[in-house]
Amino acid sequence: MICCKGKCDYWTETRPSMLPFLTHSRCRTCDKWMKNEDVLTIFAGKRCPCCHGRVSNRPRLNSNKRKYIELRLHPDARFEEEELAK
Ligand SMILES: [Zn+2]
Ligand SMILES: [Zn+2]
Repeated sequence: MICCKGKCDYWTETRPSMLPFLTHSRCRTCDKWMKNEDVLTIFAGKRCPCCHGRVSNRPRLNSNKRKYIELRLHPDARFEEEELAK
């Protein structure tokens, strides 16, 4: 059963203002952000340590995905701050 167990009530992570998915993942069930290193890996799936539901760790917008990929390959790449805040 995937439901919030209340553990996440104590989490203090907030959505980073720029490229949040680079360092963080989001649980839709708990409606919380967590650091990527706090995410559980179960059978190669990324899971929320609270509800054990899947977390989202990539942006939906294709144009943003491209930026994430580029930033991972070239961490020095620079984008306009406005663009990254999407
Ligand atoms: Zn929770
Ligand atoms: Zn959760």
